[in-house]
Amino acid sequence: MLASIDEEKAWSASMARDRSYDGRFVIGVLTTGIYCRPSCPARRPKRENVRFFNDNDAAEADGLRPCKRCKPDEVARDTEAIETAVRMIEAAEEAPKLDRLAEAVGYSPFHFQRIFKRAMGVTPAAYARGVRAERAGRALNEEDSVTAAIYEAGYSGPARFYEDSGKRLGMTPSAWRKGGKGVTIRWTTAKTQFGILLVAATDRGICRLAFDSKPAILHETFPNATIERAGDALDELAERAVAAVDNPARPHDLPLDVQGTAFQEAVWQQLTRIPPGETLSYAALAAKAGRPKAVRAAGTACGANPIAVLIPCHRAKRSDGSLGGYAWGLEMKEKLLAKEAGRR
Ligand SMILES: [Zn+2]
Repeated sequence: MLASIDEEKAWSASMARDRSYDGRFVIGVLTTGIYCRPSCPARRPKRENVRFFNDNDAAEADGLRPCKRCKPDEVARDTEAIETAVRMIEAAEEAPKLDRLAEAVGYSPFHFQRIFKRAMGVTPAAYARGVRAERAGRALNEEDSVTAAIYEAGYSGPARFYEDSGKRLGMTPSAWRKGGKGVTIRWTTAKTQFGILLVAATDRGICRLAFDSKPAILHETFPNATIERAGDALDELAERAVAAVDNPARPHDLPLDVQGTAFQEAVWQQLTRIPPGETLSYAALAAKAGRPKAVRAAGTACGANPIAVLIPCHRAKRSDGSLGGYAWGLEMKEKLLAKEAGRR
């Protein structure tokens, strides 16, 4: 049983040899007795001969050996090295040099720079600049340059982003830009263990989840939409939303209908990749979204997140470990994180 991803998703990630899943699970091949990274270049076995494991230890406990080709046993070491380096960068007064970071984690500078960039989207030096910008509290972002940057970072636009996203995050065109013109939004409220949840949806999916009992926020976000209270038509969706909010560690497949700027969407996508119970700094989010200096903008993108919990902006923190902000209050953020970490 996988902790942070469902098996269908894990299988399709491994069919796509998606590197971003390395370290999140391994694939055991029962016929050969080996286990692999999701990105292993080797030919894929039949689905029925595959078992997924949360980590190397679990695979080895079942008697499997690491693949010699993709060396999954080095992923854990890579991840640990990157985490150590991130902590060093975030704690240091002055950005540590690549040589020093690499030495501290036992890699060659060249190789370490490569794995860091693959995991974080940017080099250690660029990441350090982002952390510094965050400390200085400067707003270095301009929406248009941010958009340019995200395109440079390899996204060909929102459509591409949606394809990347495993959870069908957003599906639709530009009505949002016009304040929801021509769109009908239906809403209802439901009770979660964290409080009342406002659930609003278009025909395509949920467009707003908020810890709020009144639809006023819908009128603010979608001034030109037709907004109506749902009859029982939304009950099933609301029920699934409540289940997803109450069990944030469980994968869900709720249809979402959201749209933001290219950079916001890149940040939201990165948020959905943070496993439950874990957090990422705004600086790391900005870096992973391809714009390491836009730390402030990453924070703003979290604040603009229309889908509470399912786009887990509560998993973003400041580099100094403090909680930063949360649209529904810091107490709520603490509660959500505590629940995910298995504390109460
Ligand atoms: Zn392999």
